[in-house]
Amino acid sequence: MNLILLGPPGAGKGTQAQRLERSRGLVQLSTGDMLRALVKSGSPLGQKADAIMKAGQLVSDEIMIEMISDRIVQPDCANGFILDGFPRTVVQAEALDRMLADKGLKLDHVIEMVVDDAALTERITGRFTCASCGTGYHDTFKRPAKDGVCDVCGSTQFTRRADDNAETVGKRLDAYHRQTAPILPYYEGRGVLKRVDGMAEIDEVTRQIEAIIAH
Ligand code: AMP
Repeated sequence: MNLILLGPPGAGKGTQAQRLERSRGLVQLSTGDMLRALVKSGSPLGQKADAIMKAGQLVSDEIMIEMISDRIVQPDCANGFILDGFPRTVVQAEALDRMLADKGLKLDHVIEMVVDDAALTERITGRFTCASCGTGYHDTFKRPAKDGVCDVCGSTQFTRRADDNAETVGKRLDAYHRQTAPILPYYEGRGVLKRVDGMAEIDEVTRQIEAIIAH
């Protein structure tokens, strides 16, 4: 099964993708994570991406399309994948259709996580991640059971994203509304778009997504 999770930054795409990875044996393909790995590598392309991400803008369609095209043919994607953060423009959505058709793959569901903009800044600026296993947490909404210790792997090292500050978040939300939201009618017109209430509790959002993909 191949899915897209759509929604603004902070909608909970990563959290839900991690859950689907565990429950369904699908692979989470987060273009944001891939870019952050590229930035960490220190390569010239990584340095370029770093500046764009810190400015809250989008990396070029060409780079992103190549990144995903290479990734979905890896053996671990054979069971299916969850796209998290891609496509982010209509050009990327059209390229995705072409690459899936070329590879004989199909898109099963496009799920929009609907959230209020007003809630997003608090959600994003409070989040942090286990540096060892990548589990996501939040200062207010999802603290580890024991402060400073990851529930999943026991690590005591956590990271916060460089672009999760209030100023960059405003720019990322703006980019979402201008460049990514136009994808919604693209998928709606093809009858594959489903919606879940991204403002609900994390478990409830998971239930809504599971109900969609069970069909
Ligand atoms: P995310 O982790 O999905 O919030 O992405 C973090 C940042 O990476 C975004 O603000 C963009 O600068 C960049 N990015 C991630 N995915 C894409 C994409 N599909 N197209 C363009 N830029 C992207």
